[in-house]
Amino acid sequence: LIAFLLYLFYLVAPIGQIVEGLVQLQQGLAAMKRIKEIEDLPAEPVGATVPVTVGAGDPVGVRFEDVVFRYGDDRPTVHDGVSFEVPPGGLTALVGPSGAGKSTVFALLERFYEHQDGRITVDGRDIRDWPLAELRATLGYVEQDAPVLAGTLRENLLFAAQDATEEELRRAIVRTRLDDLVSRLPEGLDTAVGHRGVLLSGGERQRVAIARALLRKPRLLLLDEATSQLDAVNELRLREVIAEVAAETTVLVIAHRLSTVTNADRIVVMEAGGVRAVGTHAELVGEDDLYRELAATQFLVS
Ligand code: ADP
Ligand code: MG
Repeated sequence: LIAFLLYLFYLVAPIGQIVEGLVQLQQGLAAMKRIKEIEDLPAEPVGATVPVTVGAGDPVGVRFEDVVFRYGDDRPTVHDGVSFEVPPGGLTALVGPSGAGKSTVFALLERFYEHQDGRITVDGRDIRDWPLAELRATLGYVEQDAPVLAGTLRENLLFAAQDATEEELRRAIVRTRLDDLVSRLPEGLDTAVGHRGVLLSGGERQRVAIARALLRKPRLLLLDEATSQLDAVNELRLREVIAEVAAETTVLVIAHRLSTVTNADRIVVMEAGGVRAVGTHAELVGEDDLYRELAATQFLVS
């Protein structure tokens, strides 16, 4: 019996550490909520079993067509006819005041929730017709202030891509400018990070989360930027990483810093549940009051 209990403990301990790590980062509640949301997802809709060939990482585009969404029948409307297009490849930025419904765009794309009206397509295909697992494998999702889990840096990176090769891991590290960090850590990739090990800066945590997403080879990267300030070096690195990834796949970023949007191919400005304007930085600065205002405050809103 004791052996059995020890065995149980052995099984449970790593999970306990992960959960503890999350709590330590004050992300525990958010994570539980997300797990709950994923558990609560409706079963995969009938008719969603048509096989699709997943291209070797070809970038995919997205369309929102008059999307209407509220989180519950008794909740206010969050998206009140949202329409915009993200062509395949390149960098599209989503900006707007806090509460405009930007993060909800990502939640709908990931199908954490179902929109009530309108149409959302990925690669020209209604997301309701995609097998859920395939849709999520197509999208890489970096949530706002993504947590670093207790464990080594390697474990953190391979968390969602256990079968990635050493070469793929190296490449993801270089692409996300984490090579400096790796060479600085006492045991390199096998150094414990998070609250039980070396604490990473906000910029490093964000790039770890991007590398983790890239290792799953998404055809569209959804990046909800952290709102915390980055120092100049980390800001530059982030900009380089985003530009490099956008050269290979589609990147849709919810931008909280001006330096992220100035090089975007297009910027979608959201306000109060609708799309207010679309353009480049130069165009919008000339044409849109709200955009000018956001730009003046460097977008540092949640
Ligand atoms: P943004 O990212 O632009 O700040 P969000 O998409 O996060 O805006 O939120 C839009 C609105 O939806 C806000 O009023 C917010 O309070 C609400 N909201 C966001 N997430 C949820 C949720 N999980 N349940 C209920 N309401 C939510
Ligand atoms: Mg948000």
